[in-house]
Amino acid sequence: MDAPPGRGEVAVNGRRYRFPSEPTVVVCLDGSEPGYIEAAIARGLAPNFARLMRTGASLTALSAIPSFTNPNNLSIVTGAPPAVHGIAGNYFFDPASGEEVMMNDRRFLRAPTIPAAFHEAGARVAVVTAKDKLRALLGAGLAMGSGRAVAFSAERADRVTVAENGIGDALSFVGLPLPEVYSPALSEFVFAAGARLVESFRPDLMYLSTTDYVQHKAAPDSDLANTFYAMIDRYVGRLDALGVVLALTADHGMNDKFFPDGSPDVLYLQTWFDARLGPGAARVILPITDPYVKHHGALGSFATIYLPPGTEPVGLIAALSVTDGVSLALTRAEACRRFDLPPDRVGDIVVLSGRHKVLGTSPDRHDLSALDAPLRSHGGLEEQRVPLIVNRPVAIPEGRVLRNFDIFDVALNLVS
Ligand SMILES: [Zn+2]
Repeated sequence: MDAPPGRGEVAVNGRRYRFPSEPTVVVCLDGSEPGYIEAAIARGLAPNFARLMRTGASLTALSAIPSFTNPNNLSIVTGAPPAVHGIAGNYFFDPASGEEVMMNDRRFLRAPTIPAAFHEAGARVAVVTAKDKLRALLGAGLAMGSGRAVAFSAERADRVTVAENGIGDALSFVGLPLPEVYSPALSEFVFAAGARLVESFRPDLMYLSTTDYVQHKAAPDSDLANTFYAMIDRYVGRLDALGVVLALTADHGMNDKFFPDGSPDVLYLQTWFDARLGPGAARVILPITDPYVKHHGALGSFATIYLPPGTEPVGLIAALSVTDGVSLALTRAEACRRFDLPPDRVGDIVVLSGRHKVLGTSPDRHDLSALDAPLRSHGGLEEQRVPLIVNRPVAIPEGRVLRNFDIFDVALNLVS
């Protein structure tokens, strides 16, 4: 078992974290491929990032696999891989009930979060997310009536209550109108809320999580992306000026997933399995699936497949491995070992696709009419590398490969 935490330490999920001596702000910049910040800096649009990356720490880290939003946000706030916290996707097949369900309910979360552990130890804690789907998971374990916790989403900032969110009127507190869900303003609201919270609520620990609306639409160095990162840069400057320890990372990167004519480059796996095993015999699950499919059409680079009882995966995996666009095909056991996934939430086979390929079920089950830009998406190994930036120098032990879910360790234990 874990040794008991020392004075001024909090232990959670097998790791110890020092109690912050100054407000510590951890940010997940959703979908932030390192190239976005690099391009904004090169254009002179991100002077605060440029300065902090020079005087603080400019590192990269590897995300959890699947490189999707929920597994990584939960890894970041628990400091642990999906095998520990249980959130292996946005969506999964529950063999117990025989149903495909969203994994955004607290009952699916198997580990306490770092903010909740600090809150229990007496800290003032704030969590602000872009989308409400993450607020319930990320705010788990915070006692809202305590006066020491705030947790709300930009998406539902008009519907907060003191009992549920620790704040009664988020819109006038933040001073911005309720943002559209599909807009850069949703992420700006998160930053504006974070800055106001540091100024008035003075959290010991705060977690901010934005949305990847812009990154799904626009590549690094596009006008849309540069404008978005210039906005983020202003808040980075403002938070830094407030004297906080500021640490930023991402849940995953993002890549173009389309042909030269702009149509998405998809391997339809339900079609692939139907041709070999018969219609509907296998069940293909795309864990990227969520209620907000508008910007990715439920197409990502990670899929898991349940086979009919008695079907051997080995021959199918061999055939998948030589299929164009497949970067990895693994058995459940191999995938869980390699990526630290919870075996009971993973199918018999796991497939990852390459840099420019996504995985679908069958063409009739993806409504691509809502895609208003050529598809950019994530989920695989090619979207695993993300920035890890801190506004203070940090001492990383020689040879340590950083994960994005090391960011609380870095921000609380390793800043100089
Ligand atoms: Zn994301």
